[in-house]
Amino acid sequence: MVDFLIVGAGISGLLVARELLAEGASVCLIDRGQSGKEASWAGGGIVSPLYPWRYCDAVTALASQAQSVYPELTTQLLAETGIDPEYRACGLLMLETHDRQQALDWSQRHKRDIRAWGENEIYARESALASGSRNAMWMPSVANVRNPRLLQALRASVLGSAAAELREHCEFVSLVTTGSEVIGAHVNNAGQLRQVQAGRIIVTAGAWAGQLIAAMSSADTVEIEPVKGEMLLYRTERPLLRSIVLGAGRYLIPREDNLILVGSTLEYCGFDKASTKSARLSLSASAVSLLPALQDAELVAQWAGLRPGSPGGVPFIGKIHGLDNVYVNAGHFRNGLVLAPASARLLVDIILGRKPDIDPSPYDPAVLRQSSSFGS
Ligand SMILES: Cc1cc2nc3c(=O)[nH]c(=O)nc-3n(C[C@H](O)[C@H](O)[C@H](O)COP(=O)(O)OP(=O)(O)OC[C@H]3O[C@@H](n4cnc5c(N)ncnc54)[C@H](O)[C@@H]3O)c2cc1C
Repeated sequence: MVDFLIVGAGISGLLVARELLAEGASVCLIDRGQSGKEASWAGGGIVSPLYPWRYCDAVTALASQAQSVYPELTTQLLAETGIDPEYRACGLLMLETHDRQQALDWSQRHKRDIRAWGENEIYARESALASGSRNAMWMPSVANVRNPRLLQALRASVLGSAAAELREHCEFVSLVTTGSEVIGAHVNNAGQLRQVQAGRIIVTAGAWAGQLIAAMSSADTVEIEPVKGEMLLYRTERPLLRSIVLGAGRYLIPREDNLILVGSTLEYCGFDKASTKSARLSLSASAVSLLPALQDAELVAQWAGLRPGSPGGVPFIGKIHGLDNVYVNAGHFRNGLVLAPASARLLVDIILGRKPDIDPSPYDPAVLRQSSSFGS
């Protein structure tokens, strides 16, 4: 018997596990694949929403808290595990934004450092960019994190606790109940049906959370749908960029070792995760139009991941109504890496009955269900 069974070991599940372990709870994390190998691996690792002023305050509240936590979290993980998540505050340069005034108003309201730049500042910072950019918004404190390494570090940190168990290739099948009370789950552990008894169950199954909760309960559903994102990775002979650069919705992210990530597509095609030629052509055209030297760079890899899409990108965090002892933390859409530390903290506050720093009501699955509609 464990205190918590956590279904899904991406960034959302691993961070919830870490928070609960710090409170002295025991956890069993299951993942039907390998931990941290779905959206959390596939993402770009920008520690900010893109064009952050275009999001609602519920997303900004989580992002702001998480951004303040990230430097310490990644430093602690490096000290604990020896794995460096490469958190780097390299700045975010957003070219040719049409809504500069909204950005400046938002920055004043949320006390965020955003500067309106002209041509001279743009090219003084990033001389290799294609010519022709006349204006940009610059956020100097935005960081990027090497998410595959962050996930490795989180996995190692969780497994460092005697109160944690991680079962990979172990899939949630159904709830175990006595009367109306949920007391555990049936799981398919590498082909064998087993029972895990748990005080509470937390669904952190990313893009799969919606269908998983629908199968658990007809009383409550969460509106989460998979949204495919494809990425490219280039290797260059010398460093070409210092900052994350965003132009016409596409971005370039520099890594330490002369690698540049290019992202990303936004495709509504169900659970299909295949990489496509059309995405490669479209992303490489965007990349070269932003940074012409990428024309001659080596294309090292292409991959795709499934974002947990939700209305307005607001995650579902809280109790599943109509089911005793079942909670959710999923639906972070394009911002799951940045939001994860704050949403894990919020869920654990809710579960433990502590007063949260962030008002939980905008993320309550019951409230969101009544007000939701896709398309924002
Ligand atoms: C191309 C791309 C670029 C992105 N860039 C960024 C970015 O720069 N910044 C940012 O903040 N966010 C970014 N994101 C979004 C971010 O990656 C996601 O929001 C986040 O990773 C979601 O994390 P998660 O843990 O909820 O889901 P996941 O990482 O998908 O983890 C869910 C886990 O649940 C497991 N699971 C599913 N069903 C079951 C079951 N029945 N039983 C057991 N286990 C199950 C899966 O195997 C998986 O490991 C990007 C996403 C993509 C695809």
